[in-house]
Amino acid sequence: MRSIQHYINGQSIEVANQKAHAVLNPATEEQVAEMQHATSKEVNQAVSSAKSALASWSEASIAQRTKLLYEFRNLVLENEHYIAELITEEHGKVHSDARGEVARGIENIEYACGFAETLKGSYSEQASSGVDVYTIRQPVGVCVGVTPFNFPVMVPLWMFPNAIACGNTFVLKPSDRNPSAPEFIIKLMSEAGFPNGVVNLINGGAETVNQLLSHDDVDAVSFVGSTPVAKHIYESGTAHGKRVQALGGAKNHMVVLPDADINLAADAAVSAAYGSAGERCMAISVVVAVGEIAEPLVGAISERIDNLKIGPGMQPDSEMGPLISQEHRSRVVEYINSGEAEGATVVSDGRVHSSEQKGFYVGATLLDNVTTDMEVYRNEIFGPVLSVVRARSFDEALDVIAQNQYGNGVAVFTRDGGTARQFQKNVQAGMVGINVPIPVPVGYHSFGGWDDSLFGDTAIYGPEGMRFYTKQKVITSRWPDPTSSQVDLGFPQNS
Ligand code: NAD
Repeated sequence: MRSIQHYINGQSIEVANQKAHAVLNPATEEQVAEMQHATSKEVNQAVSSAKSALASWSEASIAQRTKLLYEFRNLVLENEHYIAELITEEHGKVHSDARGEVARGIENIEYACGFAETLKGSYSEQASSGVDVYTIRQPVGVCVGVTPFNFPVMVPLWMFPNAIACGNTFVLKPSDRNPSAPEFIIKLMSEAGFPNGVVNLINGGAETVNQLLSHDDVDAVSFVGSTPVAKHIYESGTAHGKRVQALGGAKNHMVVLPDADINLAADAAVSAAYGSAGERCMAISVVVAVGEIAEPLVGAISERIDNLKIGPGMQPDSEMGPLISQEHRSRVVEYINSGEAEGATVVSDGRVHSSEQKGFYVGATLLDNVTTDMEVYRNEIFGPVLSVVRARSFDEALDVIAQNQYGNGVAVFTRDGGTARQFQKNVQAGMVGINVPIPVPVGYHSFGGWDDSLFGDTAIYGPEGMRFYTKQKVITSRWPDPTSSQVDLGFPQNS
């Protein structure tokens, strides 16, 4: 059984008699690792290690930082298969999906490798007579990342490669449900040659996070997780004077217009709703079927559900694995119960499947005739439950989305370019897919929702990530002839 430790100043730290936590394989319900919780001593050690490394790391040349980031990218790539196995073992998602996660994470390291170009400042020569003005971006300092269970590798990679590329140092606090893969990639940083203390890792839960949020030497916090916690992190972090970006939960809608290709839309809905058992912040959890397409679309989705292969993530033919925990499985089943009790039509019932085998399984569930006042619609379920809301018109579909508390991802399926363009302009969400059900932006754009899906002013990774991890400095410079110098108390004007 693996023993997961903290990684501080380039060393694994194991402390006797600490509170420990069993990490389970959700497909077998067996314990595969034990994770130690940090005490305030390790939290302080991790922050202090990051602070000590800051002075020299922020001085490291662009050439040095770039070279190390490339080394790290190559090591992650070399170990891609093993990292994906660790993810599958502790998260449950199928191995091909876990490999996809690692690949999207590598995309973020690759973006960070190009930071020399991204962080180039701007220069205005002769802004005024003999005066030049230029902008540079400098590191924020010690940055913290707090990450969720559903992408134990990709989400940390959204954060720390960009943060350290900008000259910051970093403390990662990953999810306590699947800590092995993040521990593995952080250790690769040392192998890549990063100086000790540039990236540190501590394990724990809410208590650990709260200590980081109030720590005097922490300058910025990136958070990805559920909305109530994101809101707490944003409020507490900013109250303690930190720069904070906190990404929360979601309820992503896919609007299917009457002219859409039914097969294309049904394939997309099934892939986006049930991939990773719905435990994706960009999963489609609501199909808004406009007009007459509803009936045939529900039929086409339910046919596909019947053919889905559900099983352990390492089994080559599995398409959907278990949920993360027994507690979460019960919560998802309760949501299905409540949907049924409130009048939704249960077209495909995943509760039946859940009782058939060991592991935290819930089968793919399809609820039709869901209305926006139902619990099953209003809350993020984070499981393989797809609700169909029927709308009479395109405008009604847009209105349903606008009224929802979240605004992460959204998609439209249509063959009409003009309507798609209207959708793109008017829809109230941060990331829009046109005939693309999971529009996770590529690493050189940025990821972020609206409303209760993001607290803070900057989206994560890509150019917005770089802005978050740097402070702007503007320099106004003049090299005058000393003989022309004179006292002038007027407000400086440009000439
Ligand atoms: P979570 O909010 O329970 O936990 C996220 C992190 O916060 C973990 O590291 C956890 O240890 C810590 N934490 C939990 N409770 C805390 C508290 N009270 N105070 C301080 N820290 C606390 O989320 P999760 O269950 O791990 O992940 C699933 C959620 O994450 C879903 O809501 C999903 O939509 C969301 N998510 C959002 C995005 C996005 O980009 N918007 C991406 C992935 C996941």
